[in-house]
Amino acid sequence: METTAVRGRLTWQAATVASVTRETASVVTIELDPPHWPGHRAGQHLDVRLTADDGYTAEREYSIASAPGEPVAITVERLEDGEVSPYLTGELRAGDELELRGPVGGYFVWEPVRAENLVHGSDQQSCSPCHPAVMIIGHVPAVHVPPDHAASRLAAARPA
Ligand SMILES: Cc1cc2nc3c(=O)[nH]c(=O)nc-3n(C[C@H](O)[C@H](O)[C@H](O)COP(=O)(O)OP(=O)(O)OC[C@H]3O[C@@H](n4cnc5c(N)ncnc54)[C@H](O)[C@@H]3O)c2cc1C
Repeated sequence: METTAVRGRLTWQAATVASVTRETASVVTIELDPPHWPGHRAGQHLDVRLTADDGYTAEREYSIASAPGEPVAITVERLEDGEVSPYLTGELRAGDELELRGPVGGYFVWEPVRAENLVHGSDQQSCSPCHPAVMIIGHVPAVHVPPDHAASRLAAARPA
């Protein structure tokens, strides 16, 4: 039973892009609608695979940026000289399809009681995996968030 579940998570599937939200000039959040998704935990990631018309493929890993129970989403920063991120941040549109597999990773996941420590120690560069943790603990300790950085999603998660 467990082996079947692992095999399912490591099987590529075509997911529809539900939405693409621009966070900053170089960062987008992509919400995905995979037909088979077993759910995810804060701190897990997924693999994305793009295939060109000539069959060339490129795979990259992305932290899952949505909370457990929410539709699966990733937040991607464009690297100007990158191969995959310029496509994901510049060309991908809602309704497109891309291949993914996951969720991947089970050792560095965070439960509510441990997530608070994670947020205290996180920096601006690693905000994507923090967002699900923020959502499950329900509040955010004081963090410095530049207005043009994707980490503004952390601030948005803080209850009034
Ligand atoms: C566990 C994990 C989670 C991640 N989560 C996220 C996330 O949430 N968001 C996110 O944006 N990214 C994340 N990443 C990074 C992501 O997987 C990609 O590496 C990133 O999007 C860049 O991919 P790219 O194809 O655009 O760039 P690439 O084409 O892979 O290039 C990356 C950089 O390496 C340089 N480079 C490429 N090939 C060479 C070479 N042969 N010699 C020297 N330099 C080279 C390029 O010039 C570029 O600067 C994660 C990575 C891991 C491992």
